[in-house]
Amino acid sequence: MSVLIVVESVDGEIKKSSIEAVSYGALLAAKLQVTPVAIAIGVQDQAALQALGKAGASKVLAVASELLKQPQVLPYASAIALAATQEKASVVVLPKSTFSDTLASRLASKLKAGAVTGVTELPDTSAGFKVKKSIYTGKAFTHVEVKSAIKILTVAKNAVQPKEDGGAPAIEAFNPSIPESDFKTKITKTEKASGDLLLTEADIVVSGGRGLKGPEHWGIVLDLAKELGAATGCSKPVSDMDWRPHHEHVGQTGVKVSPNLYIAIGISGAIQHLAGVNSSKCIVVINKDPEAPFFKAADYGIVGDAFEVVPKLIAAAKNYM
Ligand SMILES: Cc1cc2nc3c(=O)[nH]c(=O)nc-3n(C[C@H](O)[C@H](O)[C@H](O)COP(=O)(O)OP(=O)(O)OC[C@H]3O[C@@H](n4cnc5c(N)ncnc54)[C@H](O)[C@@H]3O)c2cc1C
Repeated sequence: MSVLIVVESVDGEIKKSSIEAVSYGALLAAKLQVTPVAIAIGVQDQAALQALGKAGASKVLAVASELLKQPQVLPYASAIALAATQEKASVVVLPKSTFSDTLASRLASKLKAGAVTGVTELPDTSAGFKVKKSIYTGKAFTHVEVKSAIKILTVAKNAVQPKEDGGAPAIEAFNPSIPESDFKTKITKTEKASGDLLLTEADIVVSGGRGLKGPEHWGIVLDLAKELGAATGCSKPVSDMDWRPHHEHVGQTGVKVSPNLYIAIGISGAIQHLAGVNSSKCIVVINKDPEAPFFKAADYGIVGDAFEVVPKLIAAAKNYM
């Protein structure tokens, strides 16, 4: 028996959320006294596959098929369902992402399994199998009992501390036979958003709002982000006015982020913005208005003019790093 953990990658590089999913899956496997097995599609690098062992996987199924190079729901669901059957998986764990949520529902249909997305804790297995999941963009939680023999869970970002003390996994090639009929679509071109760091995967996000007055003042946001190794985000009006690209827009109608540290500069903290950031581990707000609503959601607040405060933070980060 096993817990099968699905690993997502971009250009062969494993996403941070997948390391979290493997760490979660390893803890769950220990609880259920079964083997944690990871399935990594399109990851060739041996060091990256070994890292899945450090995160807790005892075994890694490495899928090298050219056909599966493009992430597509139907063929991925077929491959993972075959792996789940081979490994006698009682639970399939996936990282939280738009792709994984869709994949989870397709897998659920293939494996006749109950699926729960956005799980925040290990299940309570004292009587049945009950999981806690985040709802309303992290503002509330709900408890769900999964009654099927096979369970499918996607793990909310930051739900577990990534494990780094696991051992060397057994790495096995896995070559699933996927029916031709699964390939109903083909990605013909991918245009990547600019920026070095993926906003949804970044450990630190530095975000700016209308308080910065104009795009010509964005240098301090970019400099702080550079010093901290952070990705940059912004509020909706900022991207609406083309001060920043749309893919940086954070919030209910934009990107949802869950970094360890979210620094909001000159952002008021409207509910629609908070909806995209409130699962961040630590929120720092810099705003000159002490009544700005964002301070209520902040772990640390600095009441001050961004144009005075941020250069001091950049200087401090330069000295520290
Ligand atoms: C359906 C709907 C969906 C929406 N979706 C989103 C969304 O996904 N994301 C989003 O962000 N918004 C969204 N909005 C808009 C949202 O309601 C707010 O209008 C928006 O978040 C405000 O952006 P802001 O905080 O940058 O600007 P403002 O509200 O203008 O706030 C600027 C802040 O900067 C501070 N400030 C000014 N000067 C300085 C200075 N020198 N130093 C420090 N602080 C300073 C001010 O005190 C103020 O708090 C949505 C709205 C609707 C109706």
